[in-house]
Amino acid sequence: MTTPSPSSLVPVSLIEGDGIGPEIAAATVRAIDTIGGRIRWERVPAGMNAITTAGDPVPKATLDSIETNQLALKGPLATPSGGGHRSVNVALRQHFDLYANVRPAKTIPGVPCRYDNVDLIIVRENTEDLYAGIEHYIDSRRSAAESIAVITRHGSERVITYAFEYARKHGRKRVTLVHKANILKMTNGLFLDVGKELAKKYADIAFDDMIVDATAMKMVVSPERFDVIVTMNLFGDILSDLAAGLVGGLGVAPASNIGASIAPGRDWPCAIFEAVHGTAPDIAGKGIANPTGLMLSAAMLLDHIDQRDVAERLRKGVFAALADPASRTGDLGGTANTQKFTDAVIAAAQR
Ligand code: NAD
Repeated sequence: MTTPSPSSLVPVSLIEGDGIGPEIAAATVRAIDTIGGRIRWERVPAGMNAITTAGDPVPKATLDSIETNQLALKGPLATPSGGGHRSVNVALRQHFDLYANVRPAKTIPGVPCRYDNVDLIIVRENTEDLYAGIEHYIDSRRSAAESIAVITRHGSERVITYAFEYARKHGRKRVTLVHKANILKMTNGLFLDVGKELAKKYADIAFDDMIVDATAMKMVVSPERFDVIVTMNLFGDILSDLAAGLVGGLGVAPASNIGASIAPGRDWPCAIFEAVHGTAPDIAGKGIANPTGLMLSAAMLLDHIDQRDVAERLRKGVFAALADPASRTGDLGGTANTQKFTDAVIAAAQR
């Protein structure tokens, strides 16, 4: 493998994250650097570790780095439930207006799971709905609380358009819009109406809509029925974890968060790539975490910046390592640690 010249390297902000984050980030960076990735990693803090080191879960230097690079690979960040600081993940998505969360779920040969024919993409609206952050107690005694879901025509149009364009670009046949418009007639009704209007412009892609509860049931009974799903923030959050469960669990699921605008001098919109799973505090620091989710997210990043050759090598390495029981990690029933798995990825990627 020839060493890339410094000027050919693409700068990427690297947030290692909390819990197992530093372990899986180190494994992913080692794999990409070894197999010929043309990336200059810029390490920046965020999350609990950043509170300790910088007094802020999202330091300004981190925002500046992502603003400049328009690209980040992010490990998981711990978010306190109930009180404490607001989710840094949500804050980053909103700050950079990363409106489309794209989560592929595809059966991986060798990874133990209940299905062998899942191949679907969930496109989740990432900035609105109940995650808009409009929440309050109605009185000082906290006798009740309210959260407000915000759905806009603009927000709906851009994410549904993204789903149709994604389907077209990747040879997908069907877009299914998921909602609860029978009960939430205005918010979800607006999202559905926009979807039906846009579908007329994409006659080459089949379109249907489905109520979210029926969708959850059908995804379990016949997941092969789905191709591209587009939905709002909360339903997308839940259904994409369900989809991860269909293909072997959170440890293997990648995701990207794609922005709306392209900065001057860049060929791609701002984007942050991250594994779907969290910080796995129960196994943090033990060297046994499965880096597959972050590696496959990094492969999506490499596609995004047109380093498709490296993305393909990385995926080939990951799939080969997962196919061999000797190199699988504990969450997939194996005995390999993070280092052994990564060694297997690199060896297979270079074959
Ligand atoms: P989790 O995903 O961290 O862990 C759930 C289970 O899956 C645990 O048993 C864990 O050991 C296992 N697991 C997860 N990823 C794994 C991996 N790569 N390899 C092996 N095993 C893995 O979910 P949680 O316990 O509900 O959340 C822990 C923390 O993570 C919370 O603070 C939560 O807010 C945060 N979180 C962050 C993100 C993110 O940054 N995108 C996403 C989800 C949860």
